[in-house]
Amino acid sequence: MSETLRVCALYPELMNIYADRGNIQVLRARCGWRGIGFELAASSLGEPLDPAAHDLFYMGGGQDRDQIAVAEDMVATKRDALHAAAGRGAVVLAVCGGFQLLGRSYQLGERTIPGIGLVGLETVREPGPRLIGNCAIEADLGTGPRVIAGFENHGGRTYLDADEEPLGRVVSGHGNNGRDGVEGVRRGSVIGTYLHGPLLPKNTWLADRLVELALGVELEPLDDAMEDAAHASARRAAGL
Ligand code: GLN
Repeated sequence: MSETLRVCALYPELMNIYADRGNIQVLRARCGWRGIGFELAASSLGEPLDPAAHDLFYMGGGQDRDQIAVAEDMVATKRDALHAAAGRGAVVLAVCGGFQLLGRSYQLGERTIPGIGLVGLETVREPGPRLIGNCAIEADLGTGPRVIAGFENHGGRTYLDADEEPLGRVVSGHGNNGRDGVEGVRRGSVIGTYLHGPLLPKNTWLADRLVELALGVELEPLDDAMEDAAHASARRAAGL
């Protein structure tokens, strides 16, 4: 295979809670094992973004203070490029704090920070504890229902617009807001989720699916004995 997966990490030094950068290492490894090239770029505060230069845009989770630091910058320097990239079918994967910033806004007490409005959702703080724990959802990314297992820890509660699809249905855990039984968001190749783990080491089927969507290819399976054991362990942790 002669393809190359071109990944751009957004704000990697600020948005990397729970070692979310491990997601990129999984993408790199799984491409490498298959002879697919891998290029990694980054775009952070004040830096522009070329929508045509990458196949997959990635953003991890972050503390509220880091999100405040990136939110305005993201709207100013990356919103239009991310809309254009999503419009041509590039994959956008955003975890937790990154997921929240894909929506219209994140309201934190007195303050409301803007999102890039790539999907129809809002995140608010509500009275009540943080939503923390192991979590499992059932998601269908075009290859039948599969489990995504991970760990969530968020104070924000996310509500999708009525016409927006979640990434999956909560099997165990809190999901977007602890109320409506859904988790994440998916619109075409734009995916947001609250699940850390990091996400992709615990769900390598999802990593492969993202590569397929980003490159428009079908991948052959790998020998995934260790990866399957990691997935099984994450499922058990979530009570499945
Ligand atoms: N700061 C956000 C919240 O608490 C996101 C946290 C995270 O990325 N884990 O809701």
